[in-house]
Amino acid sequence: MNKLLDFRSDTVTKPSEAMLQAMVEARVGDDVFGEDPSVKLLENLSAAMFGMESAIFCPSGTMTNQIAIKLHTQPGDEVICDSKSHIYNYEGGGIAFNSMCSVALANGDRGRFNATQAQELIKKDDIHFPNTSLISVENTMNKGGGACYDWKELEELSSLAKSQGLAFHLDGARLFNALVAKNENPRQYGEIFDTISICLSKGLGAPVGSLLIGKTDHIKKAKRIRKAFGGGMRQAGFMAAAGIYALENNVERLATDHNNAKILASELSKTSFVEQIIEPETNIVIITLKELITPEIFLDKLKEINIQAVHFGGQNIRFVTHLDLNSNEINEAIERIKKLEL
Ligand SMILES: *Cc1c(COP(=O)(O)O)cnc(C)c1O
Repeated sequence: MNKLLDFRSDTVTKPSEAMLQAMVEARVGDDVFGEDPSVKLLENLSAAMFGMESAIFCPSGTMTNQIAIKLHTQPGDEVICDSKSHIYNYEGGGIAFNSMCSVALANGDRGRFNATQAQELIKKDDIHFPNTSLISVENTMNKGGGACYDWKELEELSSLAKSQGLAFHLDGARLFNALVAKNENPRQYGEIFDTISICLSKGLGAPVGSLLIGKTDHIKKAKRIRKAFGGGMRQAGFMAAAGIYALENNVERLATDHNNAKILASELSKTSFVEQIIEPETNIVIITLKELITPEIFLDKLKEINIQAVHFGGQNIRFVTHLDLNSNEINEAIERIKKLEL
């Protein structure tokens, strides 16, 4: 049997030998007591990278986002986010479940909304309306096919949030993909956001973990919320060591994944079963199948040739490139898919 090529997500990567070595050698302690040196190192390293004061290590990106929402809101408040956003679509209803907030949904361009659209969603100060307290954006935009924000639009959103006294959160699960694609600096982001969530277990290749980065007083509160959410971890330093390794070694190489996504998209666009493909900006390729081909049948056919991808609503299929798929494997996948008979 030929090798399984797994394009379902960049979360499927496994730690490399070198990362495992870093994990084995990690110095650890009880992080709930604040005694794990590796966790502290990772938190300090990430805060410094963004030019922010403090950071907290958590088990998942869902938890870092949900802690941020809890931090910035009171029950009954409203959160502005895009209708395609992860915090709204893919966190188990967490905004309502954890923070008892409603949402005002923007309809942005591939999930990227601008200050004019956000402005229209801010409720007037009137007791009939919910109190708008937070604007949350996502970069890169997962459901938007890994689309990146233009820096100017983020600056405008930040000014709006400031002028209206709203908190400004970034779901940056794949922020490093945007930084590499747009040649941006993490410090720019640290200057305009109140809190930033980044994932170590996506393109960066760590097995587990996300960070919430922000001001010292926010992160102090976040520690209490993490405990209440059941996210306090003990000898988490083994995971933190993988995260440090990922931040130090796996950021620049994301350009390879982006290049592989471009090659994959370009070749898939020439096949008979694809209706359209949006030119990928980062590591996510979304293809729209021709009307007569159902996503279920297409995915079954892919499985027969030992390739995995995911259904992404409607006629769409998502392929994600990552560090466990090298250029040869991308070419191999293309060769197999080209021979498909549908
Ligand atoms: C993956 C992801 C998250 C967090 O997911 P977890 O699986 O909880 O780590 C958050 N936001 C976006 C945009 C994501 O893609």
